[in-house]
Amino acid sequence: MNVAIIGGGLAGLTAAAYLSEQPGVRGVLFERSPQLGGRAFTYEKAGFTLNYGAHAIYGLDRHTLSVMERELNLEFSSKQVDKRKVMYEKGEQLTPAPLDFVNLVKTDLLTAMQKVRFVGEITAIIANIHQIKHYATLGDYLAESGADEDVKELWEHLVCSNFFITPEDARRVPGPVISDYYHNLFLSHRPVNYVLGSWAVITNQLRDKVAASGRWSIALQEGVDGIRYEQGSYMLKTKAREEAFDRVVFAMPVQQIVKLLRGTPWEPFLAPYEQNTATEVMVYDIGLKHVVARPFSYISDMNHKLFISDVSATDHTLVPEGGQLLQGIAYLSDESSGGDEDRKAYLEERTQQMESLFDRHYPNWRDAVAVKRVSKKAMVQSVKNIAGNRLVPNRIESMPFYFCGDGCEGKGELAERAFSSGRRVAELLVAKL
Ligand SMILES: Cc1cc2nc3c(=O)[nH]c(=O)nc-3n(C[C@H](O)[C@H](O)[C@H](O)COP(=O)(O)OP(=O)(O)OC[C@H]3O[C@@H](n4cnc5c(N)ncnc54)[C@H](O)[C@@H]3O)c2cc1C
Repeated sequence: MNVAIIGGGLAGLTAAAYLSEQPGVRGVLFERSPQLGGRAFTYEKAGFTLNYGAHAIYGLDRHTLSVMERELNLEFSSKQVDKRKVMYEKGEQLTPAPLDFVNLVKTDLLTAMQKVRFVGEITAIIANIHQIKHYATLGDYLAESGADEDVKELWEHLVCSNFFITPEDARRVPGPVISDYYHNLFLSHRPVNYVLGSWAVITNQLRDKVAASGRWSIALQEGVDGIRYEQGSYMLKTKAREEAFDRVVFAMPVQQIVKLLRGTPWEPFLAPYEQNTATEVMVYDIGLKHVVARPFSYISDMNHKLFISDVSATDHTLVPEGGQLLQGIAYLSDESSGGDEDRKAYLEERTQQMESLFDRHYPNWRDAVAVKRVSKKAMVQSVKNIAGNRLVPNRIESMPFYFCGDGCEGKGELAERAFSSGRRVAELLVAKL
């Protein structure tokens, strides 16, 4: 079987790595950029290792990456974020984030009675008997829950942090998604970890595995810009070649698949997924020449819905000797209807809020900046997992193709969805052999 995978991000690399183990499968992994990794791309600047998309793994012991570690013999180290240094800022108050029972006892976010209620909620999620799974959305559940405002706000804020979305969107996350996600996370012994050395540690091993099989080639800077059916095969067209394949895997955001298939007989089958919205954030990375302050490993500003991770407090491999790497992320609401000027003003306001969070906790940071990267529109997840959006299935009825990526059906959110859907697609293809 001759397989084409279009897209060399985490999903495409995962599918290719699994398929490369099959003697009966050969193929080409097409990537339009000069490098692999997609949004999990890592680069070096002035001695700092910067990620385009960060490399935190939520619930590592129950994560697809741990399954891949065993099945594909991956080797990587990871380090847990210090939970005692994960803080929430509400009003003027700084308090531990209630990530586990120890922090829950310590936090000032809830009264004693509210803590009892919240412990009850966590226990029900762990036992998989929480009522939320029967509600269409988190908002619907909270409206009927009879919980105090502080408990409701805590639920919303947790979802904002894990899904990288605003409170309005948090209320639109489906109840069953919340139930599954937190069931996994609350049962995990390793809730938030970093892969030491960034995503490159994973992507390099996947790439080497694919290349070592001898049956696969990796075509960099070869974007696929056309596809048609001819005599029982799928003809893929790039600037460099036209080649026939038996099967095609799309491992790229659905927005880009829609563009690629425009004008082909397959275009109408993608219509249900065309209006999907992506999760976008503002990213504010700063590499500092020296450690300016290290009060927390993570500080979340509940007033403005943004956070800063001291990435180098957990992963020291990313900085030059004595340096510090901070990543600020601000959740963004969808495009405002007021047009470009309004959007510009909104983004400017978010930048100010971010800089003032740095000012409050990292005094004089501006004088120590060695590297800075600000992106006002970074796509965290290609399909936001909220009511109204539809994740793309791995197979779409009446379409001959396979789909994986963080906008597709799979386990978990963000990178885990890319890994798990890539693995699933490989499984489906192997079943065809
Ligand atoms: C700021 C930020 C922070 C994040 N933090 C985390 C985190 O802490 N933890 C976590 O788990 N996840 C995180 N993520 C999410 C994670 O990075 C993504 O979920 C993941 O990288 C998506 O991988 P993918 O393979 O689905 O898609 P992509 O990475 O988008 O890969 C698609 C690839 O297809 C290629 N392509 C597109 N069109 C074509 C074509 N026509 N021909 C050939 N190639 C094509 C693209 O160039 C790209 O390389 C973060 C993301 C961002 C932006």
